[in-house]
Amino acid sequence: MNETTKKFTRIYDTSVILHSLDIMFEGYITKGVLNEVKDEILREVVRGSLRNGKLKILEVSEDSKRKIAKINNDFANNLSQTDIEILAAAYEHNLNLMTSDFAIQNIAKILNIPYEGIVESVNEKINKFIYICPACEKIYKQYKKICDACGTEIIKKEA
Ligand SMILES: [Zn+2]
Repeated sequence: MNETTKKFTRIYDTSVILHSLDIMFEGYITKGVLNEVKDEILREVVRGSLRNGKLKILEVSEDSKRKIAKINNDFANNLSQTDIEILAAAYEHNLNLMTSDFAIQNIAKILNIPYEGIVESVNEKINKFIYICPACEKIYKQYKKICDACGTEIIKKEA
């Protein structure tokens, strides 16, 4: 099997690598992401995945990096060099961006880069939604399908 020709559809940012040890990674990262993984054990996991071809380091062109850096400035976003690198890679190579970082997701939205957050509760907080039971009016701050108190289906509302 020739792993060097394998093409992935996903790219991971550091937040996802750090917070989802149990997830089977298959996709790209960048050098910046690898550098940001300081934890020794996790670093070994990532290096192992790089060795067996589950993860690959993707090079990013200076042109795309400049483009992202400019948008970052225009929108007064506070992205790190690694964040910019990840966005540039996703943009340049048409990848699905795996990130739970809200600042990165913002820029991804502007550029129509498809993204997925792994940590659901973080997204829910950012969207400022609450979940409320229409029957007994019990409020839940995090997503819930069925009300604990009365078994009614919960509805989503803006907080
Ligand atoms: Zn209820």
